Amino acid sequence: MSERGVIVVGGGISGLMAALKVVEKGIPVKIFSVVRVKRSHTVCAEGGINAALNTKGEGDSIDEHIRDTIVGGDFLAHQKPIVKLCNAAPSIIYMYDRMGVTFSRTPEGRIDLRLFGGVKKRRTAFAGATTGQQLMYALDEQIRKYEALGLVTKHEFWSFQSVVRDGSGRGIGIIAMDMKTMELRAFPAAAVIICTGGYGHIYGRCTASTHCNGSAASSLYQQGATFANPEFVQFHPTTIPNIDKMRLISEAVRGEGGRIWTYRNGKPWYFLEEWYPSYGNLVPRDIAARAIYKVVREMGLGIDGKDAVYLDVTHIDRKRLDERLGGVLEKYERFMGEDPREVPMKVFPAAHYSMGGLWVDENHMTTIEGVFAAGECDYLYHGANRLGANSLLSASFSGFEAGSRVVEYIKGKDQNTDKKWFDDELKRQNEQFKLLAAASGDENVYALHHELNDVMCDKVGIVRKNDELSSAITKILELKERFKKCGTSDGSRWGNQELIFKKDLYNMLELAHAIAAAALLRNESRGAHYKPEFPERDDANWAKITKVRFAPDAPKFEYEDVEMSYMPPTKRDYR
Ligand SMILES: Cc1cc2nc3c(=O)[nH]c(=O)nc-3n(C[C@H](O)[C@H](O)[C@H](O)COP(=O)(O)OP(=O)(O)OC[C@H]3O[C@@H](n4cnc5c(N)ncnc54)[C@H](O)[C@@H]3O)c2cc1C
Repeated sequence: MSERGVIVVGGGISGLMAALKVVEKGIPVKIFSVVRVKRSHTVCAEGGINAALNTKGEGDSIDEHIRDTIVGGDFLAHQKPIVKLCNAAPSIIYMYDRMGVTFSRTPEGRIDLRLFGGVKKRRTAFAGATTGQQLMYALDEQIRKYEALGLVTKHEFWSFQSVVRDGSGRGIGIIAMDMKTMELRAFPAAAVIICTGGYGHIYGRCTASTHCNGSAASSLYQQGATFANPEFVQFHPTTIPNIDKMRLISEAVRGEGGRIWTYRNGKPWYFLEEWYPSYGNLVPRDIAARAIYKVVREMGLGIDGKDAVYLDVTHIDRKRLDERLGGVLEKYERFMGEDPREVPMKVFPAAHYSMGGLWVDENHMTTIEGVFAAGECDYLYHGANRLGANSLLSASFSGFEAGSRVVEYIKGKDQNTDKKWFDDELKRQNEQFKLLAAASGDENVYALHHELNDVMCDKVGIVRKNDELSSAITKILELKERFKKCGTSDGSRWGNQELIFKKDLYNMLELAHAIAAAALLRNESRGAHYKPEFPERDDANWAKITKVRFAPDAPKFEYEDVEMSYMPPTKRDYR
């Protein structure tokens, strides 16, 4: 057993699950999080979690879940991990059930299921419209048991900066910053599990919480960890358009019968139902987002000439809406001042989920030995497009896997206690922060972030063109240069949010460069990556996972063939 214990960075659903699997074996765990663990982004997940439970008697099966996930991901995900994921799904749901999650039930008392996108069978278990919160709080309760025993320590409002590596390159701890005192400190560990979520905030106007900025994953990437499929960013079709945050209207709304339409020739036009009669409003997200984009931006049919189409639930019984979708509809009402039970909602796509992430092997270890990754910050399960409600599942399962593999990994491993490695990395981080604090000039970090968001949304978004991707890279390089002239208006050494954000922005810029460069190279259309110049999927050349390594001038790329042992690629057709 390890004397040093294990560090888990991130306290969302994947981090808590990983921590639980480690601490259950009596191994101490330290959890680091930039927010209170219970405020981790998972708390926002509304719609549900997938598992082929077949409680509705529709003949659903694990095989169908596997196939839907592979096809949904447009054949860019290795298939063996998906097989494991879908096989584990039912027992994961029953585990949460035993932990006390109040899943919505059928009148007979069985776990109720709802429809989600890209599938034909009801497969999504849910707890009203607050599923993520219920799952995460159940895990937190389990963790608190071990916290009371002194086996888990939570470092909330601590920000991960880098991993400490020994002479062989193995991860032996981390450097983190106390976000109140701004103190940087080294923490040794027998192994580190990174569970820091996605990188939506590189796009800014996204559905994710502000801590989903990819900063931690980018730090690791800059330290040598390989990043995979960065170009695959999911745009969710139905979010409330706004100038800052885009608030999600869950796919559950369409799962419960919500319909998308806009006016054409003065009459409602249900374009998804017309174009995709088989799946209708429940085509996968990449397809729905692209269709809405086409109708609004290319055909000029946005509501009132704006970036919006209608998402309509006014035909559904009010009582049923409140029971099944209460939380989601209240959110719309609060922010838009209109009751969606009476007036159709106005929605438009926005950046939502990161399919790409840290490259991991089948044990969830990154290319840095001793450093594992799980949850939205790994790349393993969703290929080119994630199906709705498969993320709470993959985050739970990958946390479970990473935690269990770490327990095996640290067995019998010698403990590298040489202080030198910790002192060296601490010094490097202190110097970086000193430089960031000392930089002067009239650029502003927040303004630069907005410029980054604009270029990513406009040129590295739903529809991608090579000339625009090239100009996006030029712009990102310009932003990197201008970043050097960012002064810091807040000179305090206490809770300096501006300085912390400055470091995050630096990391976001590096990752943005990798996203745009990977998108430029991939000359095909697959899942969320759509290029009108190359409108078809090109399996002969691009059935490959992008693997990117950091280099100071420009990212370096190599590719890995996709393992397709479960099913060969087929045409992805939802009509
Ligand atoms: C609005 C919304 C609704 C969604 N609904 C669903 C749904 O119904 N079903 C579904 O399957 N999926 C859904 N998703 C996706 C799903 O919620 C996420 O993919 C999942 O919760 C990610 O969990 P995670 O554990 O990987 O990361 P998160 O829950 O994002 O947690 C990340 C953790 O990392 C910490 N962290 C980040 N950076 C640092 C750092 N530098 N240092 C220290 N700690 C750090 C944070 O504090 C946090 O604790 C939804 C997503 C959104 C945006």
